[in-house]
Amino acid sequence: MQTSNHLLLSLAPHDYDALAREMRPMTFRTGEVLYEPQDPVDWIYFPEQGLISLLSVMLSGTAVETAVVGNEGGVGFLEVAGAGVTFSRALVQIDLLALRVPAAAYNAAFDASPSLRQQVSSHVELLLAESRQMLACQSYHSHEQRLAWWLLECQDRTGGAPRLALKQDFLAAMLGIQRSTVSHVAGALKADGLIDYTRGEIHILDRARLERRSCECYATTAHYRKLIETRQPTALVEG
Ligand SMILES: [Zn+2]
Repeated sequence: MQTSNHLLLSLAPHDYDALAREMRPMTFRTGEVLYEPQDPVDWIYFPEQGLISLLSVMLSGTAVETAVVGNEGGVGFLEVAGAGVTFSRALVQIDLLALRVPAAAYNAAFDASPSLRQQVSSHVELLLAESRQMLACQSYHSHEQRLAWWLLECQDRTGGAPRLALKQDFLAAMLGIQRSTVSHVAGALKADGLIDYTRGEIHILDRARLERRSCECYATTAHYRKLIETRQPTALVEG
């Protein structure tokens, strides 16, 4: 089975084959929930196209985005190695095509393969680095810089598609700011010709200039990712 998922592509061929025997492609529409907090992890999802948001759900019911996952990673594989239940809501943010693996099959492959454990460990390392950067970013960088960063991250995780089916409500939740603030900041980027948007879709017009408007966090996390990827000892040859 072919894949464009970067985590799967980083696996040694025998590890990938062990998972591929159990994989099934699945599609989900925007707004569908893959997990609620405290759900048992029955399935692991590796996105091929589309975007998943991970949300922390407060006691009041308010949900705040804490991460986005696209074809660079997956959801469920961290939790299944620990408590076996999820800590976040996993919400489909952009129509999703994912390869789905039963948790039991994934666990068997994980237990049997040191190289799979190494790949997962590297992915956890990167997630932690990105989370720390995001916390620092909230304290030091402007709304406009942060919006530019997250648009670039979303584009990277969806295969570089110029049009992103993202609503401004999502961006407001992702950045932890008011929707009116997102409108104001996005309006400035639009006025300068960097992006355009219609209802429910953002079109990145000038990526190079958007990178320059982003804070340093985009380049910093890209550097972390490159460092981790270049030390990988094995990789699957696509096809
Ligand atoms: Zn930043």
